Amino acid sequence: MQRNYINLVCDMGEISGLIAGSTDLQTFLNRMVEMVASHLVSDVCSIYLYNNESDDLELKATVGLNPKAVGTVRLKQGEGLVGTCLKELHPIIERNASKNPLYKYFPETNEKRYESFLAVPIHRSGQKIGVLVVQRQESNYFHSDDITIMIAVASQLAGTIENVKVLMNLSNKESEAPSIEEFKPKNKMIRGTVASPGLAIAKAYIFHQTRLKNRTQKIESTDLSDVFLFRRAIEDSFEQIQSIERQAKDKLPEVVSLIFSAHLIMLRDAKFIGEMETLIEGGLPAHEAVMQVADHYYDLFSHSSSPMIREKANDVEDLANRIINNLLHLSGKTMEVFNDRIVIARTLFPSDLIKFAFEDVRGVILVGGGVTTHVSIIARSLEIPLIISNKHELLNIVNGTLLILDGEVGNIYISPASHVIEQFDRRNITKQMIQENNGNASPTKEITQTTDGVQVHLLANINLLSEIDLAHHLNAEGVGLYRSEFPFLVRSFFPTEEEQYAVYKTLFDKLGDKPLTIRTLDIGGEKTPSYHDNASETNPELGLRSIRFSLKHPDIFEAQIRAILRAGAEINQVNIMFPMIVSLDEFRKAKSIVLACQSELERAGIPHAENISIGTMVEVPALVPLMDDLIYESEFFSIGTNDFVQYMLAVDRGNERVASYYCPHHPAVLRALATIAQTAARANRPVTICGEMTHQIQYLPFLLGIGIRKLSLDPHFIPQVQQQIETLNLSDCELLAGQLLNESSIEHIEHVLGEFNIDLGGMA
Ligand code: PEP
Ligand code: MG
Repeated sequence: MQRNYINLVCDMGEISGLIAGSTDLQTFLNRMVEMVASHLVSDVCSIYLYNNESDDLELKATVGLNPKAVGTVRLKQGEGLVGTCLKELHPIIERNASKNPLYKYFPETNEKRYESFLAVPIHRSGQKIGVLVVQRQESNYFHSDDITIMIAVASQLAGTIENVKVLMNLSNKESEAPSIEEFKPKNKMIRGTVASPGLAIAKAYIFHQTRLKNRTQKIESTDLSDVFLFRRAIEDSFEQIQSIERQAKDKLPEVVSLIFSAHLIMLRDAKFIGEMETLIEGGLPAHEAVMQVADHYYDLFSHSSSPMIREKANDVEDLANRIINNLLHLSGKTMEVFNDRIVIARTLFPSDLIKFAFEDVRGVILVGGGVTTHVSIIARSLEIPLIISNKHELLNIVNGTLLILDGEVGNIYISPASHVIEQFDRRNITKQMIQENNGNASPTKEITQTTDGVQVHLLANINLLSEIDLAHHLNAEGVGLYRSEFPFLVRSFFPTEEEQYAVYKTLFDKLGDKPLTIRTLDIGGEKTPSYHDNASETNPELGLRSIRFSLKHPDIFEAQIRAILRAGAEINQVNIMFPMIVSLDEFRKAKSIVLACQSELERAGIPHAENISIGTMVEVPALVPLMDDLIYESEFFSIGTNDFVQYMLAVDRGNERVASYYCPHHPAVLRALATIAQTAARANRPVTICGEMTHQIQYLPFLLGIGIRKLSLDPHFIPQVQQQIETLNLSDCELLAGQLLNESSIEHIEHVLGEFNIDLGGMA
C-alpha cells in the first residue's frame, strides 16, 4: 500500500493550523487521527491519553474503532499492548497482534481482527502523555519506516497536546460564567509599585477588556429602524474619536494621532461599513451585523503574517466595541462609565489610558503582569496615578467600593476607615495648594552658576512632547536628548516618515530658538517593539540594538533622517546624534546616510535643514581609546552614562541581582569619563552628559571638575541639580576630581568622597 509520508510530514507542519481551526481538544484529536490514518493508509488510528492521577490510559479519539468506545475504553499502564508501550516508553510493532499474549480485546470497540499493530508512546521530557496507535487488518503491514514516521508524529503531538490542553482550559475559563468570590475587605491596605505618581480617592470600577466574541448584550427594539440607529452609531463613534483626538492632542500629539487615525479611517471605509449596512438591510439586527463583519475582518487580519495588518485586528475590535456601545446607548442601555472612578484592570492598551484620561478616571490599578514603559510614560504624562499590584483578588472587588490610591508610596486602601480618609484629605489639600502656588513662578533661575561664576548649562531629556512644557517651566536651556523611539514603541508598526515628520515639527516648534539634539532610533535591548522579531536574541543588550538596528534597516533609518531634516527646514542648526556607536566605521556609515538623505532632499527640491551637526553618544567603552580620532569627525559628544556604566562594568542595568555592581564611581568609569571630556576639550568639541549620573547630585562636583559644562536630565530634577551646583566652587571640584582620578579602588574613592562631605548613602 502506498503510504504518503511526505504529505504526513507536511501536514504535521500544519498542526498549528489544526489547533487554530479546532474549538476544543476533542476536535483537534479527531482531526489528528483522521490525518494519520489517511496518510499511513491504516484501517484504524487511535489516540489514548494518560491520566497520571488515576494511572489510566483512556481512548480519546479513533477512526476505525467503534466511536462509542471513545471515553469508555480504559487500561492501566502496562496493560495490553497499548499500556505496555506507555510503560516502557518504547514503540511496539506486531505482525500478528492476536498471537501476542499481551494483546487485549475490548468488546466495546467492535474490533475486528486487526493483525498489524503499531503503537508509539507520546511523551515529553520524561512526562507520559499517551499512546498513538495504528492498526490494519492484514498481517505484516507495518515496517520500520512506519515506526520512524509515527515517532515523529508522536513527538510533535506531545508538545501540541500539552499546549492545546492549556489553551482549551484558558478559553473554557474565559467563557465560563464568572464564579468570582467577591473580595469585600474593610480597611485593608495592599502594597503595590508606583508606575505613575499621584493621589486619588474614588470608587472602584473593574474594567474587563471586552472581547468582541464574548459580547452577549442584545439591542432593545425601538421605533427607529436598525439602519437609522446604525448610521447614528457610526456618526456618534466618529464624533467621539475626533473629540478624544482634539482633547488629547495637546498632551500626547505623537501618540494620539498614531492610535486614533486608524479608527477614523475605518469608520469612513465604504466597504467595512457598507458590508454591515447591507446585512442590516437584509434583516440582521444591527449589533449582529457589526459583530459579523468585524469578526470576519478580525480573523482575516489577526492571521496575517504582517505585523502591521495584525495590529489592525485590535483596531477592528476596539472600533466594533465602540459602535456596539453606541447602539446600546441609542437603544436606551447605559454605557460603561468610568467618570470619577479608580479603574482596576488586568491589561491596558495605551488607547484605554487615553480614553480613561478623558473620562476623568481618577487613578488606575493594574493587576498582575508588568507595565510596559510606554503605558507608564503615558500615565505620567496624562497625570493619572497608576499602581501595579500582583494581588489578583483586587479584580474581585465589588464595583463601587471606596478606594484610596496613594501613588506616592504605592499603597492601595480598600474601604478605608474614616481616620485614613481624613489623613488622605489633608494630604491631598496640601498637595493641591503646593501645585497651585507653583502654577506660575518657576522654582529655577534661567542661568545656573557655581559660587565662582562658572556657568553650567542644564538641558532636558525628553521622551514625550508634553514634557517640553515642564522643561520650559523649569528653565531648561534646550533639549540635550530627545529619545526618538517613543512613537516607535506605542504602536505595533513603525511610524511613517510623515507621522514622524509631524512629531519632529511639533518638537522644533515647541522649542522655538532653544537648541535641540535628536537621538536617532534607539530600539532593541529593553526597548524592543513587540512587533519586531528580534525578541529571540539571548542577550539583547549586546544584540541588534540602536544604531546597529538602524544600519541593518536602512529604509527605517532613512525615513527617520528625512523626517528630521524636513522638520528642521527652518531651524538654524539641527543636531543629530547616533546611539551606541562602537567604531569610527559605524559612525562614518551612519553619517554618510544622513548626508545622502540631505543631498537627496536637495535634489528633489524639498525644504530641509541645511546646517546640521552630527554627534556621537558615548555609551560603549570601546570609544574611549578611539576618542583621539573620533574628535576629528564627530562634531559633539553626549555621554550616556546609563549604558556606559553597564558596558564598562559588564552589569545589566536592569538586573536587580547585580545592582550592587552598577557603580558609576568605579575608578575605571571615572577615568574614562575624564579622558572623554579632556580629549573632546582639546578639539573644542562640546560634551554633554545625559545619563542618570547628572541628577545624582553626589557626582556633580566630579563632573564639573573634569570639565563638563553641559548636563541633560529629566526636567523634574532641574531644580535640585541647579541648587546643588549653586553651592559648588569650581576649584574645589577640580581638586576633588584630581584626587578621585588618582585612586584605583572603589573603597578609596568612597573614602575621598566622604572627606569632601559627599554622602553616598542614597546612591544608585
Ligand atoms: C544612557 O544610556 O545613559 C542614555 C541616556 O540612554 P538611554 O537611557 O535612553 O539608554
Ligand atoms: Mg543609552
